Amino acid sequence: MTYLETTSSKVIAALCCDFDRTGIGTRARLRDNIANKPVLTHVLERLLAVGGLDEIALTAPESQLPLANEFKLHDRIHIIPLAARPPQISARIRTARAWNLQSWRGGAGQCTFFDEEYHPQTLSVAAKQFNADHVLHIHSHSLFLDVEMTTALIHHHLHKNYEMRITYTPSAPGLSGLVLRADIVHEMAEKTAMPWQLLAYDPKAPTFDTLIRDACMQVDPALSKIPNRFCADTDRSFRLAEHLLRTGPYATSADLALAAARTIASGVKSFSDAPDAPRELEIELTGKRQTTPPGSVPAIIREARGDLSAAHWTRWLTAQNFPDDLLLTFAGDGDPLLYPALLDVLRAARQAHPLSICLQTDLATDNLQPLLTVIEENLVDILSITSYGHTAATYNKLSNTTLHAQLMKNLTTLAPITTARGGLPLVIPRLLKVRETIPELEPFFDTWLQQTTWAVIDYPTDRAGQIPFVGVIDMAPPKRRPCRRLWDRLLIRANGVAVACDQDMNDKLTLGNIESHALEQMWNGAALSNLRQQHADANWNAMSPCNNCKEWHRA
Ligand code: SF4
Repeated sequence: MTYLETTSSKVIAALCCDFDRTGIGTRARLRDNIANKPVLTHVLERLLAVGGLDEIALTAPESQLPLANEFKLHDRIHIIPLAARPPQISARIRTARAWNLQSWRGGAGQCTFFDEEYHPQTLSVAAKQFNADHVLHIHSHSLFLDVEMTTALIHHHLHKNYEMRITYTPSAPGLSGLVLRADIVHEMAEKTAMPWQLLAYDPKAPTFDTLIRDACMQVDPALSKIPNRFCADTDRSFRLAEHLLRTGPYATSADLALAAARTIASGVKSFSDAPDAPRELEIELTGKRQTTPPGSVPAIIREARGDLSAAHWTRWLTAQNFPDDLLLTFAGDGDPLLYPALLDVLRAARQAHPLSICLQTDLATDNLQPLLTVIEENLVDILSITSYGHTAATYNKLSNTTLHAQLMKNLTTLAPITTARGGLPLVIPRLLKVRETIPELEPFFDTWLQQTTWAVIDYPTDRAGQIPFVGVIDMAPPKRRPCRRLWDRLLIRANGVAVACDQDMNDKLTLGNIESHALEQMWNGAALSNLRQQHADANWNAMSPCNNCKEWHRA
């Protein structure tokens, strides 16, 4: 028996609005004007044009209902109270999604774009109140909601999805939504279940990816690969929206999105343009580390950089004005857990208000106390743990240590602590992919997916030909193009020197120093601008280390 419906089925749309904070933790912009009207008005006008839709439930917290009432633009729009979801769920989704804003899925914790504003109880109440058979859930800031695509999505859900009770498209965030049959909406409310739990890969019950099933309405592949977010809920995506609205007209949002797809980084359409600020900043606090796995920078180079005192870092961090979507990672060639004043620096980093903070470590220390304090004070959101083998023998061989037992002991200590905190910080184990670890990749991935809900496979690099290549195969595509990293991120070394990327282990392309440069000056200075121009002109062979780099294709 299928659940395919007749056109008499009642379909409602539900938006979960918060006029203060977004689901990813940024300032809500629902009432901000863009092209002469508030963001939420754009969204509702598009939603009213979607075919196959009956009522629209605009939900907001009780205290914000007067604000929501300002958006009752049509008789079909109904304002209902939003019931808060458990704070641990919101915190976990916020943390996971921060690192993957430009894709609908694929990030930490297997969370999806559809989780950001999904409130199980509220959607169930809305479905009951309007006696709906199906609910279309869309993002409150999706001002480029594609009317044709969303109309087709509802049709696909009602008439073509024979397999599941949910239907979605894999298009870039903000272009469409998720349709659910009412009975699964009610089940999800009873269990406080989230969309990622329906769409995630579960190693205990492997099955076909929903992406190749009826649940997924296929779209132009370019629309699912656009490295952009079409929700006006960060400074960057808001500016992108303003820019796109100026460059039209486009027949549909999909056409607009495809135009935006011809970019090299978020919102960058021209090689000569650069965003106002990097999306990611990496800070190396020390060059010291306990392991020396394949592809690691020789100790004589990384330790010669020296370490700055905490005062240098706290002074610099305190003076920065980070963009609201900045992702800050403490990593580099050393292990930040070995930096004596880690706590002081992380406290200053939190006060600088990046969107999210990640700490990358071997976790092989015999003194875990500083990290336990970091977790207690909520100073990191992601704990990224590097590993060099799923088995002790492989780990110890590749890391040139006997630290596997210490790593496992530390992981065992951390597990109940993070569990008690609702799974935060998110723990992400990473395994280095070299010939020796190939037989261990699958068991590693499945084991950690079950325990921490995410795992990553890392590739060793030859640092642009400066150390031997130990990867399995060179993955660089045959046709070279400009390196996207130059439009996306930068790295500051333990000595305070900023460089364009981690491949530059001998600091050949320096961009400034924290003693004299703010982040903005490093990012917009002549050195990085020239470097971008060289890449835009396809002159990467004229400079080292880019001329020998195999990593230019990785985001
Ligand atoms: S091409 Fe390679 S060396 Fe040059 S900036 Fe990109 S990743 Fe770094």
